[in-house]
Amino acid sequence: MHVKKFVCGPLKTNCYLVWDEGKAVLIDAPQRCSQPVLDELAKRNLELVLVVNTHGHWDHIADNAELKEKTGAKIAVHKGDEKMLWSPPDGVASSRADTHLDESDLIRIGSAALEVIETPGHSPGSVCLYGAGMLFSGDTLFAGSHGRTDFPGGDHSKMLASLKKLLKLPPETKVHPGHGPETALGKERWIGHM
Ligand SMILES: [Zn+2]
Repeated sequence: MHVKKFVCGPLKTNCYLVWDEGKAVLIDAPQRCSQPVLDELAKRNLELVLVVNTHGHWDHIADNAELKEKTGAKIAVHKGDEKMLWSPPDGVASSRADTHLDESDLIRIGSAALEVIETPGHSPGSVCLYGAGMLFSGDTLFAGSHGRTDFPGGDHSKMLASLKKLLKLPPETKVHPGHGPETALGKERWIGHM
């Protein structure tokens, strides 16, 4: 499974194109990610089959509609955040989910797969994706910190439980967060002291 990171939009949101055997999935769709992602798909002759939103905040969903229109990719989000796609802030295109993400769902990408881990706290429908030794952690876990819980739908005690759930994964797991640099789970020992 191959991974390419793009950093896009005013909040410098990370999105990740992951692919295997000609099939690609995009993890999050921040503002102005469409063109670089489309260029990458063309360059590598990849079919974008799915856009997964780690959660429904506007900076992770803004280019859903454009990517769906231009590639035919389906949109996947957890039910808990689905309504955020329908009514985003002014200036952000609304979109509709084609499929919902639930705990332990497998997202197949060629011969590889990513497993859905429900991690509410930053938002009700936040998820992380785990597979091939990697964790795509959205705005749940960043290098050295966790996502805010003071937005509508945020819940600090749920965030704590979600972080502790992630800590059960192997320490060598490489973490690709929704903002900022990569890390490894083993470097985020502060979670155990929360
Ligand atoms: Zn967020």
